[in-house]
Amino acid sequence: MPNPDERAPRPVLLTVDDDPSVSRAVARDLRRRYASSYRILRADSGPAGLDAIREVVLRGEQVAVILADYRMPGMSGIDFLEQAMDLVPHARRALLTAYADTSAAIAAINVVDVDHYLLKPWEPPEEKLYPVIDDLLAAWERDGHAAERKIKILGHPWSAPSYEVRDFLARNLVPYRWYNVAEPEGQRIMAAAGATPDDIPVVITSDGDPLIRPALAELANAVGLATMPAEEFYDLVIVGAGPAGLGAAVYGASEGLRTVIIERAAAGGQAGQSSRIENYLGFPDGVSGGQLTDRARRQALRLGAELITARTAVGLEVQGPARRVVFDDGTSVLTKTVLLATGVSYRQLAAGGLADLVGRGVYYGSASTQAASCAGDHVIIVGGANSAGQAAVFFSRHAAKVTLAVRGDSLEKSMSSYLIEQIANIDTVEVRVNTQVEQVMGNGHLECVTLVDTRTAEPQNVDCGHLFVFIGAAPLTDWLPPQLDRDAAGFVRTGPDLVLDGRRPAGWDLDRDPYLLESSIPGVFVAGDVRSESVKRVASAVGEGALAVTLVHRYLAE
Ligand SMILES: Cc1cc2nc3c(=O)[nH]c(=O)nc-3n(C[C@H](O)[C@H](O)[C@H](O)COP(=O)(O)OP(=O)(O)OC[C@H]3O[C@@H](n4cnc5c(N)ncnc54)[C@H](O)[C@@H]3O)c2cc1C
Repeated sequence: MPNPDERAPRPVLLTVDDDPSVSRAVARDLRRRYASSYRILRADSGPAGLDAIREVVLRGEQVAVILADYRMPGMSGIDFLEQAMDLVPHARRALLTAYADTSAAIAAINVVDVDHYLLKPWEPPEEKLYPVIDDLLAAWERDGHAAERKIKILGHPWSAPSYEVRDFLARNLVPYRWYNVAEPEGQRIMAAAGATPDDIPVVITSDGDPLIRPALAELANAVGLATMPAEEFYDLVIVGAGPAGLGAAVYGASEGLRTVIIERAAAGGQAGQSSRIENYLGFPDGVSGGQLTDRARRQALRLGAELITARTAVGLEVQGPARRVVFDDGTSVLTKTVLLATGVSYRQLAAGGLADLVGRGVYYGSASTQAASCAGDHVIIVGGANSAGQAAVFFSRHAAKVTLAVRGDSLEKSMSSYLIEQIANIDTVEVRVNTQVEQVMGNGHLECVTLVDTRTAEPQNVDCGHLFVFIGAAPLTDWLPPQLDRDAAGFVRTGPDLVLDGRRPAGWDLDRDPYLLESSIPGVFVAGDVRSESVKRVASAVGEGALAVTLVHRYLAE
């Protein structure tokens, strides 16, 4: 039996240039030095380059570095790299430019966050090309993507636990190779691991250890994500690593507070699942949520914050001046202050047959790991807000047809006009207003959905393999103690909302009113979507996270 690791494919170096002689020359030079460890691919245009990347990604392989010519007809190198970033956010990127184009290329570099630009010609490559590529590869490997590439997931496309494992690793930006156990290669690796198809999902770590149906915390540990706080006592414990939590971590850690973030799933929160955020300040061409929040995560870590993943906070206790945050495994951490930044979660869709098909064709949120399997399929997206609109645009690139099922009578009330316009320009996206999902059906996985027109009550069965739910926003705050004041919907009240007719909240024992973002428990602050009356936006969540840290300092100085 061959060792499966020996078959691990080489990561790809992709070069994209419309000039055949330049393209050949780049590929030749790259091959000379890198062919033993990397596969060199060539494409003669931006669209061909994107197709090549899609193919690599679909095969579960990796793109390490992309070299793109700046000036190409049709799609420029900048446009190409921008789209390539959505597909392979970790690939390092360089632009090839002629001397005359240097200024324009440099100006464009911020748009796509290019790592280097290379002037043509680059002779001799030993001096001008290889040092740059060596740097890019070193950075790619330093980020851990090369080392982690051998993680394998063996599972079935319609198994909910297999989906959960894939989604967890994908959202935590841990690259893996996916093997379907219904296919010969999956079966071979499964046998080599000494496991059977009943054991799925099986994760084979980069050290070759098979994990049978791992719990997320076990999996997180195995792939090198921290799951336990390093210290016993902190200045600031942040619950939730969405934009609010990450924003607070950046300021808290950089201002000298011992700061730890506790995250149940993956850093990024809802924003990390957004395929394109168009309205965040400083990104005139939009940015994928994954990229924005990955940068924020790295920034917070670099500045000294700790990030604990796969741990859910299930309790908050007051112990004199200290606060204790309890985790789902019974362990806990002590801290002087707490920031609740737990955001909101999607509401459950009330449709018949749903419980059996979640993770088997029905998904909450955008489930980008499923994008490839939507090829040629009819996808239904439920919801009428921006998140649903972004998903419609995203999945239209993969699916044959996308139906946006909207309960209201128009999109205008709930979706930004730029998205409505984008959707109107995509032929394969159909918007159905006054529409509800009544029933989902399928044998082992989703096959058919009953949509009902709420004006006529007329049902219609639609063949469909994937349904993504983007409805509502429920704060999951049941775990918080009763003295933490919440509004009727469960959002946590803060600051002036807690002082009614001059009366401070019950149990409040300080000689001052609660600070602007402080809850009814002194030293427990709240930021982002989970806060009562907050604005549900990335920018406001980040801003509140930053402001909360200022208030933490004020509290600690008392
Ligand atoms: C698909 C989509 C697209 C969007 N597009 C845009 C856009 O274009 N522009 C814009 O401004 N806004 C957009 N939004 C809204 C924006 O993402 C949110 O307003 C923002 O993410 C809120 O940040 P937050 O940190 O408050 O909460 P969240 O992003 O919800 O993060 C909360 C985090 O807390 C974690 N958590 C929850 N409970 C616990 C617990 N008990 N223990 C540990 N961890 C916990 C969650 O796992 C999550 O990671 C979009 C939202 C979605 C879903």
